[in-house]
Parts: sequence; C-alpha cells; structure tokens
Amino acid sequence: MPKSASLAAARATELAAQLYASSIVPTLVEYIKIPNKSPGFDPDWEKNGHMQRAMDLIVAWCRARKIDGMKLEVVHLPGRTPLLFIEVPGAVDDTVLLYGHMDKQPEMTGWAEGLGPWQPVLRGDRLYGRGGADDGYSTFASLAALEILQDQKIPHARCVVIIEGCEESGSGDLPAYIEHLRERIGTPSLVVCLDSGAADYERLWCTTSLRGMVIGNLHVDVLREGVHSGEASGIVPSSFRIARSLLDRLEDAETGRILPEWLYVPTPKQRVAQARAMAGALGAGIANHYPWRGATRPVTDDAAELILNRTWRPQLAITGADGLPPLGSAGNVLRAGTALRVSLRLPPGVSSERAKERLARLLTESPPYGADVRFEAEANDGWNAPELAPWLETALRESSQAFFDAPAAYMGEGGTIPFMAMLGERFPDAQFLITGVLGPESNAHGPNEFLHVPTARKLTCCVAATIRAHALR
Ligand SMILES: [Zn+2]
Repeated sequence: MPKSASLAAARATELAAQLYASSIVPTLVEYIKIPNKSPGFDPDWEKNGHMQRAMDLIVAWCRARKIDGMKLEVVHLPGRTPLLFIEVPGAVDDTVLLYGHMDKQPEMTGWAEGLGPWQPVLRGDRLYGRGGADDGYSTFASLAALEILQDQKIPHARCVVIIEGCEESGSGDLPAYIEHLRERIGTPSLVVCLDSGAADYERLWCTTSLRGMVIGNLHVDVLREGVHSGEASGIVPSSFRIARSLLDRLEDAETGRILPEWLYVPTPKQRVAQARAMAGALGAGIANHYPWRGATRPVTDDAAELILNRTWRPQLAITGADGLPPLGSAGNVLRAGTALRVSLRLPPGVSSERAKERLARLLTESPPYGADVRFEAEANDGWNAPELAPWLETALRESSQAFFDAPAAYMGEGGTIPFMAMLGERFPDAQFLITGVLGPESNAHGPNEFLHVPTARKLTCCVAATIRAHALR
C-alpha cells in the first residue's frame, strides 16, 4: 500500500460540502418528517409503518452511492426492529465497524414557534426536527466518509456499517442481530460511533466514557379507584407521598446525591484529571448553554464537580408519570395510585443488571402502609474507553486540526449508548472513535432538536481521515 496516500483536505471538504448540500440535507429533511419513534414509544411501530418508510428512504439514498463493492441488506429478525447492514470490501485485511441508529425519540413538548418534531426547518447552519442529529445523519456520514476516501483512491479496511432501529429503547433487539451477523461482522479493530455529544461546534470531540442506566416504572397503588379527597385524606395514605418516601431511599432530596454506595465506582484518576482540565478550560461557562428559567442555577459552582456528576456519578431524573390528571381536569380526588418513570444514570463500570435488581428491592421492600408497589425496569451498562492507541490519537489530533482548525478534545458523556458496552466486552482489543454532533442547544430528546450541518460535514471528513489512518497504521 502506498504510505503516501494522504487525504487532500481541500478536496475532502469540497466533496463533503457537495454531498451534504445536494443530497444528505435534502434526504434528512424527508427523514425528519417521518415519525419513526423507537418501539418503546410506539408499540405499534410495525403496523404504523413509519420505521419501514424511514428505512426505505435511507436505503434508497445508500444505493445511489458511488462506493466500490458495497453490499447492503435490511435484516429482519422476526418480531424485531429492522437493522441496516452494509459491507464495503477493503484493501486491508482488517475491519472497521461504523454504528448509528435510525429510530427516534418521541415528540416531547415545548417546541418553539415555527418548529416541530416532524417539521424540518433549515435556519442558517441548523436543520431543526426530531432525529436529524440523533442519529439520522449517521448513515449518511458513514457512507459519505467512505465516498470521500474512494474519491481520492485512498485504501481502507473492510468496513461494516450497522444502523439499528431500537437504540432509543435500550437496543434490546441488537444483541440478537449481533449474534445473527457474527460471522459477517468479523472482528473490528476500530469502532466508529456517530451518536455522541460535543461540548462545542469548534473541534472534534471524542467521548471517553458513557454512563449506564436503569430505567423503569415505579407503581404505587393504594385504592381500587380514586375517592373524594375530603372524604379520604387522613385515612387513606397518599400514593404520591408514598412514592416520595420510596424515592428518599434512593436520593437525598436536598442535594440530589444518590444514597446507596453500591451505585458508585471509584472514578479513574485520569478521568478526574481530564474533568479538571476541561473545567479549567470552560470554567463557569460549562452550564451556560442550558435553557435556565428565572434564577435557577446549577447544583454546584464547582465546574469539575459538575462534569464528574454528569459522567461518573449516579443521578436520578423522573421522566414521566401516570395516575395524575392534567391540572385543568384535576378534581379534589385522593387518587388510586401514582406511577413514575424512574431514570437512574449509572457510572461506567457499575453492573446495570445488578443495579436493577437491587434498585427493585430497595424501592419495593416493606412499602409504607403495605401499599401495592411494583417496579419494572430495564438496564444498560455504561462504558469506559480503552487506552487510546498512539496512531488513533495522532489521527484524531491531525484530522481535527485539518477540518476544524482546532485540536481534538476528549470528554466523558452522561448519556448511554448500549451498543458500546456490548462491543467493548466482545472486542476488548478494539479502538473506539465515539463522537457526534449533539452539541450545545442541539437538544436531542428535548424540543428544538437540530443538526449543526457544518459540524456534521467536518465530522464526516474526520471519520474519513481516521479510517485512512487505521488502514495505514
Ligand atoms: Zn442517539
């Protein structure tokens, strides 16, 4: 192989710009219109057909690519969301696995005037709408990176692209597909994941860790039906109060600290040092991009603590509720029960399965007043990056410099990408480039989600450069 096969940055930039303008953004506009919510938010997804429509759209775009020898298949295991599997032969006897997902989060409320989840709007650099950034752009970016390499006749390893349809529901369908496709996947020595975050749009951001999670429904039922609160309060215990007291077993309501010691791991020294360095660079500005209301402020003034809270500590959010009528139709009723969606983020390295079992026991054992309490949950492990190989560090530094005109940066993420933990376990020798476009205000999962198009373009070029470096290493 010619060692001199360098990637011409200007030509790569030009082709990326052309691909995004002429076909990727227009296709993402169509993709955003399709409400292909993840099965956890659309139990009738198969009947509704949105997932299939989104997959058809993506596949049609892929088939039009100029990529030598590309083989593409939508794999359907019975009863599971479809998975797009693409193989591109390489000049090197080695494998790169590129991963993304095409299912979406639900609508969420609070979209600004003129914006909406299924309403694509291009304003300046931002393409608004659900699923463009998380993670619709991933298929396009993956193949565009390969097109950029082949355009310059730069050799690359065999590449396998996996786009799943179940990520936002915890990737429950994925292990079966990985098993099913085991032979065809092979043994990747580089994994590229395009579903992660960025602290700004000025450089290539590489994710060093992800949190795991336990997500479940806590049901507290005290009556068979609601009764007049004047009649019952003081005699019948409130299901809301019982839920509060159960949550107090888990979290200190004053500070937000999660109480059980078994939900913690010691944070690796290197990760603490990286958090301090990042806090030093970003300072108090670290929390500025959140849409704060009124005088609300972060849980602490210490920026390094905020970073560690978000990446290496368990934290609780209540993300939904049942049993509570909307305010406008809330009568004076002592309600029959309260159900809460409990989302507990876990530090990397905590076994989510064990945490799930212990959490269920913690929340349901000896409930106050003998109330009927249930907790049903799912679990996903976090992930901590293996030590970065020198070739990859160089590739990331150089490509960020070439395409963003700034050095690459490293940070932990507070979110969960279940597949990374699965891959880390299965391929312990693989290197990882986990990156993404979910930067300030991009608001994946919330209202006003957008894809920052220039970042996606530059990121695509960085991925191309990294795949090149992998082949030459
Ligand atoms: Zn995602």
